[in-house]
Amino acid sequence: MTEKLIPIKYVVAETITELDEQEQKLIEQAKLAKEGSHAPYSNFNVGAALLMANGKIVQGSNQENAAYPIGLCAERTAISASVSLFPTEKVKTIAIVASSQNMEVPFPVAPCGICRQTLLETESKQRSNIRILLHGNNGTTFIFNSIKELLPLHFDAEYL
Ligand SMILES: [Zn+2]
Repeated sequence: MTEKLIPIKYVVAETITELDEQEQKLIEQAKLAKEGSHAPYSNFNVGAALLMANGKIVQGSNQENAAYPIGLCAERTAISASVSLFPTEKVKTIAIVASSQNMEVPFPVAPCGICRQTLLETESKQRSNIRILLHGNNGTTFIFNSIKELLPLHFDAEYL
């Protein structure tokens, strides 16, 4: 047997001013999107904003339901909206923010496994990476150049 190690590469921006203006705006749009969150069960509000290749921004927020499994995360809400609004446009960047009514959430929050898989499928489909900005309420942003960094043992079209 051989032990293997999978490194995850990301960049940490300590303040939002380290990001360019477009990415700062995208994070602000994710915060605005969070206001549309419907999370009466988890009290965990998430907002996402996508920068499309045509420069448009598409927002999403988590939408929970009394029938728990049909709830949708902010990331998948935004991806679904983007496909409806701009079916041929690529997603360039996604910004994700979160907060809770029950506790402090100072650090950046990462997408759940289902959303990682959805973002991987989107990258595969559009054949280009999606930049991921996870922005924490302490001002820190974690920057990933592809969902593959967050889903390293993946299967996608590049293996076909
Ligand atoms: Zn999710």
